[in-house]
Amino acid sequence: MTGFVFNEKPIQIERGEGATLYDDSGTEYLDMGASYACVPLGHGHPAVDEAVRDQLDELTYVQASYPVETRTRLYELLADTAPGDIDYTWLCNSGTEANEAALKFARSATGNSKIVATMQGFHGRTMGALATTWKNKYKKPYEPLIGDVEFVPYDDGEAMEQTVDDETAAVIVEPVQGEGGINPASEAFLQRTREVTEDAGAALIFDEVQTGLGRTGSMWAAEQSGVVPDMITSAKGLGNGLPIGATLCREWIAENYGSHASTFSGGPVISAAAEATVETIRDEGIAAHAADVGGYLTERLEAELGDDVREVRGEGLLIGVEVGRGANRVLRELALNHGVLALPAGRTVVRLLPPLTITEADADAVVDALATAVTEDEG
Ligand SMILES: *Cc1c(COP(=O)(O)O)cnc(C)c1O
Repeated sequence: MTGFVFNEKPIQIERGEGATLYDDSGTEYLDMGASYACVPLGHGHPAVDEAVRDQLDELTYVQASYPVETRTRLYELLADTAPGDIDYTWLCNSGTEANEAALKFARSATGNSKIVATMQGFHGRTMGALATTWKNKYKKPYEPLIGDVEFVPYDDGEAMEQTVDDETAAVIVEPVQGEGGINPASEAFLQRTREVTEDAGAALIFDEVQTGLGRTGSMWAAEQSGVVPDMITSAKGLGNGLPIGATLCREWIAENYGSHASTFSGGPVISAAAEATVETIRDEGIAAHAADVGGYLTERLEAELGDDVREVRGEGLLIGVEVGRGANRVLRELALNHGVLALPAGRTVVRLLPPLTITEADADAVVDALATAVTEDEG
């Protein structure tokens, strides 16, 4: 055997266009997972593909210490879209690295070491980010990880207040938990977390690797709570399918970032992809569209599946359907018999996070497929 040990699915994907994927026999699939939110604009988006091709013709790579135009424009675009005075950006290659940087920046900017994270949270799989991830299954084989991490129950403002103190470097939290089962936080929790971190002089990190870029109905989920964190981390959809991560931060963090660096930080080709992605999301009102279609899809799921599932929850086009039993069986049924590709979020939740460009007709197709898959699975 060659290759690595991923559990491969029995479908060979060959081509993609918009929200549709095609396998090697020409069968069509509606891509309701966007391969973990990585293609917010759908597969093969012309603006992104053209920006990448044009940049490849000019320059593939130069070390990060030379400014290149597309990276400079990307910095401006991210500062422009980020809430409040989050004006600085550090670029890397993935979500876990963006969080790794955020944790390092928080330690160097505050001089403290304690990190507070949330139960059921997910922040990545490198040693530092992994230490702030909740699930033991991901951590156990690799311990010891970095120390000085404390977990509080998600959405529990009281517990947050009791745990954050003047030894705290950072609180890291997802505005809506993704891997943990699609759990939206209340505004009150996020606001209280902001207050207690501010009082303690700790950095507040919003991990928006999954929630960012229009997914929840605004460019950043932070906007909906009115909270301006000290850092926002992004990745997944940021290059519409190409690998990039970003740590957006306020000046007091940027000034004290220490000596962190990465060879491929903001390479020209990936910067061009991200610039085109963010610009398209902003200029074409993609977040508002995600709010509309997401609202429509959630309402229809509740109406059609209400009695057969435990709960439908989420924000915008980050939706979890708690099926109350093995989600994987429902997902298999959806893929093989209905041509719909979706994702799990834990054992009992079917996760929908499609390209943000899907139509109401796509949403209808998913509702029909899920309604049948859920009842077939019962029989
Ligand atoms: C996927 C994810 C990560 C990790 O991103 P990678 O690019 O896989 O390293 C971190 N945080 C959240 C919220 C995620 O959804």
